[in-house]
Amino acid sequence: MGTKILVIDDEPDIEPLLLQRFWLTIREGIYQFKFARGGYEAISLIKAEPDYDVLLVDINMRDMDGLTLLSYLPDLLPNGRAVMVSAYGDMDNIRTAMNRGAFDFVCKPINFKDLELTVEKTARHVHQLRESARTKLAADLKTHFFDNITHEFRTPLTLILAPVERLLRQWSEHQGTQRDLIAIDRNARQLLRLINQLLDLAKLEVGHLQVNPQPGYLSEFIDQLVQAFVPIAEQRGITLNYQTDVSGMWLFDAEKVGQIGYNLLANAIKFTTGPATQKAGSTHVTVRLENGSPIRLSVSDTGIGIPTANLPHIFDRFYQVNSLVRPLEPGTGIGLSMVKELTELMGGTVSVSSSTGTPTTPSGSTFVVDLPICPLSTEEGVVDDSFSIRDWFPLRATEPDTEWGSITPPEDAPLVVVVEDNDELRTFLAEELTNHYRVLTAASGERGWTMIQTELPDVVISDVMMPGMDGYALTQLIKTTPATDHIAVILLTAKAASDSRLAGLQQGADDYLTKPFVIEELVLRLRNLLARQQRLRTLYQQQLARPELPQPIETVQDGWLRTLFTVLDEHLDDSSFTVERLAECMALSSKTLLRKVQSLTQLSTNDLIRRYRLRKAVDLLRAGHGVSETAYMVGFDTPSYFGQCFKEIYQVTPKDFAISTKA
Ligand code: ADP
Repeated sequence: MGTKILVIDDEPDIEPLLLQRFWLTIREGIYQFKFARGGYEAISLIKAEPDYDVLLVDINMRDMDGLTLLSYLPDLLPNGRAVMVSAYGDMDNIRTAMNRGAFDFVCKPINFKDLELTVEKTARHVHQLRESARTKLAADLKTHFFDNITHEFRTPLTLILAPVERLLRQWSEHQGTQRDLIAIDRNARQLLRLINQLLDLAKLEVGHLQVNPQPGYLSEFIDQLVQAFVPIAEQRGITLNYQTDVSGMWLFDAEKVGQIGYNLLANAIKFTTGPATQKAGSTHVTVRLENGSPIRLSVSDTGIGIPTANLPHIFDRFYQVNSLVRPLEPGTGIGLSMVKELTELMGGTVSVSSSTGTPTTPSGSTFVVDLPICPLSTEEGVVDDSFSIRDWFPLRATEPDTEWGSITPPEDAPLVVVVEDNDELRTFLAEELTNHYRVLTAASGERGWTMIQTELPDVVISDVMMPGMDGYALTQLIKTTPATDHIAVILLTAKAASDSRLAGLQQGADDYLTKPFVIEELVLRLRNLLARQQRLRTLYQQQLARPELPQPIETVQDGWLRTLFTVLDEHLDDSSFTVERLAECMALSSKTLLRKVQSLTQLSTNDLIRRYRLRKAVDLLRAGHGVSETAYMVGFDTPSYFGQCFKEIYQVTPKDFAISTKA
């Protein structure tokens, strides 16, 4: 396609000059020229045809000068570039133009050879720019598509894995059923692992896979991975052992290191059962994790080995050694390419040595992965448990859970609102959670938001991807609305990517769970959040009830409570300042105010006002004010009622308190 050039100049001679000069390239369709006599005309031409590649702009024009026009271009024509035309010596204007984003400039009188080269260079730049914008758009679309597909796969998988997990508990006595359920669980996880791998592969292709290092115990992590293979190794008569001298916390991307280890171990076991290695006891798989810089993970086996001729190709995508000795094991040929690409993404290297054996030397393969990951001191981070190794491996079927049962929640059990558009998942969550909590459900973000405002629950569990108002938008509403900003939010997402996790946390979500999740994990996180809320309530109460602590307004973490205390301060001596007026000041109804105060402090609004006033009285008495004076200063109508309330909270009369502080 040719290059479209718009020439903006108020000198009429420029048009025939350029048409003459460029006639050959115009005839061949390489360049196409349009002319405008000033900035305004240029703007309307660009608006009509917003696909100009190069703009040739005279700086000095009468109606709108070139510099002003330039400032409109980023919005009007983001992918076009301007070449400025100005008189020799007009360096100031030229410099300004370049600073405002002009691509290049030519001087008048125009040297046409120079102009041709400049136009050509600018056109080349614009075409490259367009090409990379197109590639980026395609890559973004692809990633978006993958995210959606992941969602489509993970939601049904959650609905397989979660009920299986419940059934496993219910049928723990019944061996036959257990066996079947374990098979379902294992296969669903296998499916999940494959899907994740395929999606990672696709993301690697468009360069969208990112490394997301988190603090964690590396050697324990690898140990868990190895342990997950013990049953299958035993079944095949393979001795599996793990050696390491690594300890403590490390900063690593567990998901990627896990995939690397998983693929190497799965291969080692898969290819250690060939006809040549049938003798039990003669087959070993050893995993070694060695300290050093970089950290070295090696997986060696005494299996069939890889013929030398095939070795250079085994890290290629979809490559499988096509040999008669290849065991009848299905495979996709992507495992090792993933190992290599993930390792390299993390800045590491992978190598292999292998032999198919001779009459005197045994066969076997060793894969070595070197990863430049850093140790951490224990204090530096909290282990992120959001990545669960159980995403990949079967649950241990017989794990007992004594706290689990069918209990009807008490009336004062915490209230949870579940917002999820998938009917099945919503019903499932509600059924599971009613064992512990009072649960309300909503099928859309909008319905959820209405429910949250009227019910003021303790926690909201919301899906991220929903048509209409999504989980992020809902979280943002909850966290920016004063009446609801104390409510904890757990987001459920199909996106395993760390950027979506971040997006959720940025909106103020308190926790985040990636599908498929096990219900116990959700309950555990709910329990943690509720316990944190309870600790805060106790803290706020103590701040009011303990005179030795500083004034609550100085220490309270909750911004809304701080505002409320400020309002109370402003009306401290006003005994007619009622709950209704406080609600008005806080822009809430009295009912909502009560529920918000209750959920933050477990006190009624009246109680909170009284306790706040009494806490203020403590300081006034300490400062030497008399009891009656203090009573009026903190808004009590009569000193006797003040005395009575004071004693109730502080177990001492105001008079005695004043005496004790003087002593
Ligand atoms: P696959 O899904 O076939 O296992 P991989 O990419 O993981 O694909 O491996 C590619 C090929 O490399 C395998 O098909 C196999 O022939 C060979 N290979 C990988 N690991 C081993 C091993 N430990 N021992 C023998 N051959 C192996």
